[in-house]
Amino acid sequence: MSDSCCGAIAVEIEQSATSQDARAASGQMGELPVVVIGAGPVGLAAAAHLAERGIDLTVLEAGDRVAASVARWGHVRVFSPYRYNIDAAARRLLQADGWTAPDADWLPTGAELIDDYLAPLAKLFGDKVRLGAKVTAISRLGYDRVRTGGREQAPFVIRLDDGAELRARAIIDASGTYTSPNVLGASGLPAHGENEVSVDHALPDVLGADRDRYEGRRVLVVGAGHSAATTLLALAELDDTAITWAIRAGDAARAYGGGAADALPARGALGTRLRAHVESGRIRLLTGFFTHRVHVTDQGVEVVSRDPSGHEQSVTVDRIVSATGYRPDHAIASELRLDLDPVLGSTRALAPLIDPNQHSCGTVPAHGVDELAHPEPGYYAVGVKSYGRAPTFLMATGYEQVRSVVAAIAGDWEAARDVRLDLPETGVCSSSLAEAQEQRTGLATGISGGLLSTPLPVATAGGCCG
Ligand SMILES: Cc1cc2nc3c(=O)[nH]c(=O)nc-3n(C[C@H](O)[C@H](O)[C@H](O)COP(=O)(O)OP(=O)(O)OC[C@H]3O[C@@H](n4cnc5c(N)ncnc54)[C@H](O)[C@@H]3O)c2cc1C
Repeated sequence: MSDSCCGAIAVEIEQSATSQDARAASGQMGELPVVVIGAGPVGLAAAAHLAERGIDLTVLEAGDRVAASVARWGHVRVFSPYRYNIDAAARRLLQADGWTAPDADWLPTGAELIDDYLAPLAKLFGDKVRLGAKVTAISRLGYDRVRTGGREQAPFVIRLDDGAELRARAIIDASGTYTSPNVLGASGLPAHGENEVSVDHALPDVLGADRDRYEGRRVLVVGAGHSAATTLLALAELDDTAITWAIRAGDAARAYGGGAADALPARGALGTRLRAHVESGRIRLLTGFFTHRVHVTDQGVEVVSRDPSGHEQSVTVDRIVSATGYRPDHAIASELRLDLDPVLGSTRALAPLIDPNQHSCGTVPAHGVDELAHPEPGYYAVGVKSYGRAPTFLMATGYEQVRSVVAAIAGDWEAARDVRLDLPETGVCSSSLAEAQEQRTGLATGISGGLLSTPLPVATAGGCCG
């Protein structure tokens, strides 16, 4: 007998009763909607594919507007042109509604992406897109994670932050990672005191809406990726702002790239400008900085580094910008059976395909339902959340993910497994395009290259998006 001695009979009876409940519920399973979590680019693309296949759907969006996470970086210009940012099913639905597609070569800001594409798309689904609907937990009706018999026939139950519950036949979780940034603490744990001080999220609108927060202040930027570089270059435009940049590495060579000799000219240009600011003293660089403790003093917020040898250094500032990347939050699905890669937090099957040590955004191969499936049938994390901590995600990859997943939900396995991705290895993330566009339109981020990088066949850590 495999069960423990005391609980076996009770468990069998309970399982049998629950299986009956599940069978009863399964009679209605086909009538339940597929619930999509998140109305970002990938969640809305999933909705478009579901709608095209005639599958009932509900989209739950935590924010009070469509694509609430994109809206938070609405002032940043993306690096992939519209041709790669619009899902095929969404395009068909929109065009049938009389929508005129934006210029395929245009690199939109996050705000333009919403206004010209995502908001009109969401409108097509009417009240099937529910705003202010934050999902706090998902499970199977009557089943915790341990209970097996009849599990697959039980509908999903989705709990919202107002306590309401919905049922679904399948869940497409496109809730992203933007709302779960990495911590300041150098070991992946929050620095002592981190939660007691105000820390700004990456990519504030330094030259726009958030200018007052930074002008004339002492600002610390933590992180070595493109988000940090973008913020630093914007801050450098504010004459009376004192800027400190803290990185864990012993020098900033990797963040600078190869300068004029860089195989990637635009990344080199970004790095060259950053290096010039550091060398001129405009930006004070602190290397070997392992954020350990943060606390408020009479002089401001003191940020203390303690490196692995115990050596300490510190800086006192008015504001801290944390640009340390993002991580997936799988907590809402903790009662489901997930098989997560121990490093990235993606599915195990996907991890080798997106490993930032091997891939940049342009070299990730097409993948779909087989790579995204968990041991929990019917639950799929898609979009940037599916990549876990890998920063190599592109919308176009997410659109192919949801096309495949929705085909599988519809039982069309041939289409589900016919995964294709038409992305050039270089060009899709080209910052030279962005620079040209900035100059043409005079759009004043003042940060030519912005957040951007061009993909390498073998990417350096930091990938394309971070
Ligand atoms: C600054 C920046 C620039 C980028 N530029 C490009 C680019 O040029 N090209 C490219 O292809 N990719 C780019 N990316 C990467 C990626 O394509 C985007 O992050 C994209 O927005 C990911 O889409 P998504 O739908 O997976 O997630 P998100 O856009 O993050 O959407 C997730 C949605 O889920 C909602 N949500 C979160 N939690 C819950 C919950 N519990 N319940 C309900 N709703 C929830 C959020 O409010 C949000 O609206 C960029 C990313 C950033 C940050």
